[in-house]
Amino acid sequence: MADSFVLFDRPQQADLDRCVHCGLCLNACPTYRELGVEMDSPRGRIYQMVQVANGAPVSPSYIEHIELCLACRACESACPSGVQYGRLVEAARADIQNRMDRPLPARLVRRLVFERLLQSPRMMTTAGVMAYLYQASGVQKVVRGSGLWKLLGKLGRLEQLAPPAEPPFFFSSIGKTFPAEGTRRYRVALLAGCIANVSFARLNEATVRVLQRNGCEVVVPAGQGCCGALHVHAGMRTEARKLARANIDAVLPGGFDAVITNAAGCGSTLKEYHDLLEHDPAYAEKARSFSVMVKDVNEFLASIELNPAMGPLKVQVTYQDSCHLAHGQKIRAAPRRLLAAVPGLQFREMPLSDLCCGSAGIYNVLENEMAMSVLEKKMQSVNSTGAEVIATANPGCMLQLEAGVRLHGRRQRVVHVVEILDEAYRNKAAG
Ligand code: SF4
Ligand code: SF4
Repeated sequence: MADSFVLFDRPQQADLDRCVHCGLCLNACPTYRELGVEMDSPRGRIYQMVQVANGAPVSPSYIEHIELCLACRACESACPSGVQYGRLVEAARADIQNRMDRPLPARLVRRLVFERLLQSPRMMTTAGVMAYLYQASGVQKVVRGSGLWKLLGKLGRLEQLAPPAEPPFFFSSIGKTFPAEGTRRYRVALLAGCIANVSFARLNEATVRVLQRNGCEVVVPAGQGCCGALHVHAGMRTEARKLARANIDAVLPGGFDAVITNAAGCGSTLKEYHDLLEHDPAYAEKARSFSVMVKDVNEFLASIELNPAMGPLKVQVTYQDSCHLAHGQKIRAAPRRLLAAVPGLQFREMPLSDLCCGSAGIYNVLENEMAMSVLEKKMQSVNSTGAEVIATANPGCMLQLEAGVRLHGRRQRVVHVVEILDEAYRNKAAG
């Protein structure tokens, strides 16, 4: 049920007024580049939001154009007038969600995914075990290797995007503290995500190890849960606010030096909890205190004196900017600086590295055709570098790029930047 702050969940006039319709954002927009349609450009979408704010109906066509947006925020980086497009599109989706009566099956699926699955470690563990059986039984290999997935149409394309299950799941680390290696320099909280506990358990472990090697005591606070990013992107802000309050309560009393996330999509939302809760008198101040403590793991490691005890990694690596790191959080140099610190690593910059890969939360599931089209172009950029490894900074991008490698790639390995650092530290320890 919607909370009382729902009245503010619509594009605000002051935000809409910032757009001067110059069109300088158009070429940065993946959907405009694909379709060449004004109504699928940032300027066109803002124009439609203005119409709705002035009383036009929330029509099926409006919903379609707003939902086809990747919410990648590339237009925000391109805009000289400081339009906060992310804020606008999230509010427009919330407005649609609040005003529209979706068909019953769609309502049930949204409730199951957003209100149950993503919030229940038990349900995610069950889903993870089922996914693991599918993988380990060899059925997945047959489906992917035989080309059977191509006969399954959309279902087959979605299969390519299915997240892996990585037992033992990271849920067992929630509530634990991992000591710093050597002198303790920082005490940090790690937010482990929701699906990442099942599908990126090894990435979370690598994140803990790299932080430990850099003098961090790493606490994985009990009581944490899904950050609400997927809910915000889907317009379900009431649910997102509940999740935000729970995370704030779980973390804020710990008095940490930083709150770390290895997922750029989560990081953007965590850093914007103050926006989400700005009208909630009980949490507005707490949300501001929380948001300033949030650091992407790349941002944090690049801001401290990095432990240089790494062994050489003789690999050629390219880097895909995760939209919510580059455009949402304006962090571009930090991951490149970390990669440059690894001895032996050769960096190959790809063209248009900050153009979306098509992942965008669960966009690749909901708008699969557009996501796959965007991905194909991305893989052309990746392939042009000749790199054997694609590094990025967001688990969702990793899944999308892995599908890209299977469909259009050259057997590249897809990793998170922190996994490269972990390998380099481990090489040193082994050498
Ligand atoms: S969003 Fe910014 S760049 Fe795009 S049309 Fe509006 S003012 Fe121009
Ligand atoms: S968020 Fe991305 S897809 Fe949406 S309008 Fe902006 S650039 Fe285009």
